[in-house]
Amino acid sequence: PPVLSGDFATLMGWADDARRLRVRANAETIADAETALSFGAEGIGLARTEHMFFAPERIGHVRQMIMTENPALRARAIEALQQFQRDDFIGLFRTMAGLPVTIRLLDPPLHEFLPHGENELADVAAALGENIEVLRARRDALSESNPMLGHRGCRLGITAPEIYAMQVRAIAQAAIRAAEIVGKPIVPEIMIPLVATEEELKRTRAAAEETIKAVIAEEGVELKYDIGTMIELPRAALTAEHIAHEADFFSFGTNDLTQTTLGLSRDDAASFLPLYVEKGILPRDPFVSIDQEGVGALVRMGVTKGRTTRPGMKMGICGEHGGDPDSIAFFESIGLDYVSCSPFRVPVARLAAAQAALQKREKTIA
Ligand code: PEP
Ligand code: MG
Repeated sequence: PPVLSGDFATLMGWADDARRLRVRANAETIADAETALSFGAEGIGLARTEHMFFAPERIGHVRQMIMTENPALRARAIEALQQFQRDDFIGLFRTMAGLPVTIRLLDPPLHEFLPHGENELADVAAALGENIEVLRARRDALSESNPMLGHRGCRLGITAPEIYAMQVRAIAQAAIRAAEIVGKPIVPEIMIPLVATEEELKRTRAAAEETIKAVIAEEGVELKYDIGTMIELPRAALTAEHIAHEADFFSFGTNDLTQTTLGLSRDDAASFLPLYVEKGILPRDPFVSIDQEGVGALVRMGVTKGRTTRPGMKMGICGEHGGDPDSIAFFESIGLDYVSCSPFRVPVARLAAAQAALQKREKTIA
């Protein structure tokens, strides 16, 4: 991995002395985690787990898990995936050696995991020993017109609880195993995506805790953990004082929050946003720099309401804005504890966090 050296490293040291905000990275592979560490990341703020399932030796199991209605076949696919996940998480925990690691439970647009062409459908049918026409109908029933606003995040965790149970079991086992290897306690942070209501989080959390307790009993060891949620839908920010009853931490997902607040698809925005910025209708791309009166106001509200219920509650941000200097100044001003950004933006974020803290201090003195 790259290293910071010489004057640059000295400068970064000064920045670290000045800043209050912690800087974490979004990373889901060991290589990304190593890069993040070498740039000074103080933890992983978001490990997205959906990408982990696309490897050729895994995707077949994922498709079988989603497509079958046979409990024994589903259990077999889940067992295989759990082994992979446990190794994934041991790798991340070992690399981070006791620094905080937030693992987000599966948040796929479901359609990405469905068998698409005839060949994929035939493969699944052969593996499951099921009729291809029956599977085609099942696949079509699961297809959606707007997957990004559909069967995603905790919604999937609620309709197919065995998927989250598999991941939580893998996380708990990995934390126990990695703690033995690194010789330090590991407190995994488990994050639930796309929560809109307290009830969703309550149910998802209760299921996760049941799984963790089972692992603790099986292994005969102690395990501390935090269960928190993404705040990435306007309703979650608006009702954060209720959601906080069920959450040990909040992480603001400003990518989805921007998409849902503006009613503007994050995947299609490039078609006209540059023109909007050029004409001055928007000052900057809201998917890059926080819109303080819009999404920013929702984040501020989420912080205030959440901490009304839980004073001092741990809060961070893991959307793209976590690596944008102007947005970082805003996150400093509203009292977030950390920003999490892509590994290569970590040095920029450390500098921006220092600058924001110094400016705040100057204002206080003046
Ligand atoms: C977000 O929505 O801001 C986020 C960090 O999650 P993702 O980009 O994976 O949807
Ligand atoms: Mg999101």
